[in-house]
Amino acid sequence: MRFPWGWLGRDLAVDLGTANTLVYVRRKGVVVDEPSVVAINLHTDRIVAVGTAAKEMIGRTPPHIVTLRPLKDGVIADLDAAERMLRHFIQLAHRSRYLAKPRVVVAVPSGTTSVEQRAVREAAYEAGARRVHIIEEPMAAAIGAGLNVGDTTGNMVVDVGGGTTEVAIVSLGGVVVSKSVRVGGDELDEAIVNYVKKEHSLLLGERTAEHIKITMGTVRPGDGDASTPIRGRDLVTGLPKTATITKAEVREAIEDQVQTIVDAVQTTLDQCPAELAGDLLDNGIVLTGGGALLDGLADRLGEAIGMPIHLVDRPLHSVVLGAGRCVEDFEAMQDVFLPENRR
Ligand code: ADP
Ligand code: MG
Repeated sequence: MRFPWGWLGRDLAVDLGTANTLVYVRRKGVVVDEPSVVAINLHTDRIVAVGTAAKEMIGRTPPHIVTLRPLKDGVIADLDAAERMLRHFIQLAHRSRYLAKPRVVVAVPSGTTSVEQRAVREAAYEAGARRVHIIEEPMAAAIGAGLNVGDTTGNMVVDVGGGTTEVAIVSLGGVVVSKSVRVGGDELDEAIVNYVKKEHSLLLGERTAEHIKITMGTVRPGDGDASTPIRGRDLVTGLPKTATITKAEVREAIEDQVQTIVDAVQTTLDQCPAELAGDLLDNGIVLTGGGALLDGLADRLGEAIGMPIHLVDRPLHSVVLGAGRCVEDFEAMQDVFLPENRR
């Protein structure tokens, strides 16, 4: 049954990712889905753009404007910028000041320190939250993927994000083992930049490299002849130049980084308690995060570890949907929140 005043407390869930920040509004769904990028004017110390608008500025700014990613390597690299960004996105989702203050659930990477967690809480309070709860990303991803995390059965979640790949085994509403490696989508982009520099003497922008990865990236052998024109600056003449890159070349460029991701999963499996290892054989592994969309990654992982891999339906959304489940049903989901270390 729906209470007529149900819309009053529009509680929020936030996925504070290294590449993308998403906000979910209770009974509404995902309302903000933007890159975790902030552009700041160094003269005035004012924010000039946040999200998509700021990402479009990357590599195109005059000296007094800097674009930065507050969560560069899976940790909060720039606390102040992270706070300002979080405040901006929360206010975007919760415009009406006369409404009741929302409860906010924020998903943060599992390696986040307590100092960083406190900063996240404070930013959310400043943005107008009535109460702030923190959930670890792998837990949120597991819930978002539809797993029953309160169960005694162990499940493994592999989340290939922008800055990191997080591998975690969850059971009984908690993270049992987790590992975070600093290889994610960003590293693949960098690998493409480096490859093109070496093989084509061409300097590519970060955003161009990401575009190549998304449109041409594959770890699957075959159809390697498909090619696309790439534009950048010629390292020899310094002039703009166009070259051509094939799928086979992109595959070669990212091979080492892909292998690191596969190795991280294998290492975490080695540390898995024996009782849970059996569960994983039955349940397989849930693969999520934007990087999970890389063509052929799920198959490659499955072959390497000999277990079924389940690629979730919406890899870019599973964390925020999982955190969103918590705001839909606070009472039932209480146990998955991290404790608040009050001073
Ligand atoms: P985070 O949780 O760290 O914010 P996301 O889960 O949002 O990261 O994933 C972002 C990463 O996924 C980026 O590196 C992006 O380039 C990558 N990505 C998005 N779509 C694709 C795709 N189709 N193929 C490969 N990588 C992708
Ligand atoms: Mg994420």
